[in-house]
Amino acid sequence: MSRVAVIGAGYVGLTTAACLADLGNDVIVVDTNREKVAQLLRNHVPFFEPGLSELVERNTKAKRLTFTTSYQEAVPGAEYAIIAVSTPEGEGGEADLSFVESAAGSIADSMDGPLVVVNKSTVPPLTGDMVSRVIGQRNAKHKADVVSNPEFLREGSAIQDFMHPDRVVIGGHDRAAAEKVAKLYEPLQAHILITPNIYTAEMVKYASNAFLAARISFINEIARICERVDADAKLVAEGMGLDKRIGPSYLDVGIGYGGSCFGKDVKALAALAERFDYHPELLNAVMDINRDQRMLVIDKLREGLDELQDKVVGLLGLAFKPNTDDLRDAPSMDIARVLLAAGTHVRAYDPAAMEGARVKLPAVEYTKDAYAVAAGADALVVVTEWNEFRHLDMARLKASMRRPVIVDGRNIYDPAVMRSHGFTYRGIGRD
Ligand code: NAD
Repeated sequence: MSRVAVIGAGYVGLTTAACLADLGNDVIVVDTNREKVAQLLRNHVPFFEPGLSELVERNTKAKRLTFTTSYQEAVPGAEYAIIAVSTPEGEGGEADLSFVESAAGSIADSMDGPLVVVNKSTVPPLTGDMVSRVIGQRNAKHKADVVSNPEFLREGSAIQDFMHPDRVVIGGHDRAAAEKVAKLYEPLQAHILITPNIYTAEMVKYASNAFLAARISFINEIARICERVDADAKLVAEGMGLDKRIGPSYLDVGIGYGGSCFGKDVKALAALAERFDYHPELLNAVMDINRDQRMLVIDKLREGLDELQDKVVGLLGLAFKPNTDDLRDAPSMDIARVLLAAGTHVRAYDPAAMEGARVKLPAVEYTKDAYAVAAGADALVVVTEWNEFRHLDMARLKASMRRPVIVDGRNIYDPAVMRSHGFTYRGIGRD
């Protein structure tokens, strides 16, 4: 079993650390956020991810997992340092690599022997070389081999995804270092793809996210056409997905993608292409369609309510997808801001994301459940397809609303059933 330092205790870092500890490794997590580390030392996971608290607790108790703010405590003696820090959108859309650079510097300052540095953060090609350079410049004494190992887990099913990956991608200039990283994943019996150059591995992650985002924008464009010719886009997607060459994933008609990855990663890939003199027309279209898709909800509300000013509109869901509290690039935030600017009174309920939303959008009224959102409202918008919204008492909901308008941004309800309850129902790509 190996000693592993994980840099960054976010969704990816903490999941990676807890899973590697569960596989028997000795793992120490270093994060510069003191409050986060203090919470973790008190056995509290500072964000919502199903099953993660239990996994962290089990491995902390077994003394395979610990937390610190000090690189000096984490890195000396480690065989691997796994970088899992944020790579947010930077200027001009390119990835902001300052956290990765800073982590590389801190690793260099604290390493006391040869080290395999694993870059798990999503970064553009050439970043591995930058990490190598930073470490080499600051620590000439010890050798660091930098390997790219992008992460493909999804929030909401992070542990399952980490433990049962479709593939593990590893790329490094040094084959032996890449194989050493592969050893960490051996117990998972996953398909491991080792790419002989690091840029290829870095690129697999961007290409995968861009492709998934493109599927979503593709089906949403089809949905726009469906609305014009009276076709049902949800059934069109089902019909397409039954084709084995196409498959059903990421063909959900709705208000588009959001979250901490797709938006920034497609943008970063497009910005990278421009930097290398290539104009990425398809990637630009993917982003344009997704931006417009969010505003489709506003158009549908205007059609249903005539005027938005002084109306009460309730949002069912705030997180960018179910089973997470993540609000990064969440469509709910854009929709709420546009409604507030139009003079609408906005109410919202989300099972997990209200704490974060209160900070981001204090002008919204937050309620205790979906029924409280509906009481006296002129319209409801389904923004996040949480399971608890699928089985609401529709008669009760309708009776409490001032006007029974529902814009179903995720197509979770059956239009015919909703109309039979007396709702003015608007889905996406089907009416
Ligand atoms: P996050 O913001 O949840 O966590 C990042 C953590 O890194 C924070 O706790 C922050 O305090 C810490 N940090 C920042 N700079 C640091 C430094 N110099 N030293 C130590 N800690 C530092 O981010 P995340 O969602 O876990 O994403 C991390 C990376 O993984 C990003 O590149 C992201 O694109 C990628 N990724 C994310 C997901 C996802 O679903 N969230 C999936 C796959 C890949």
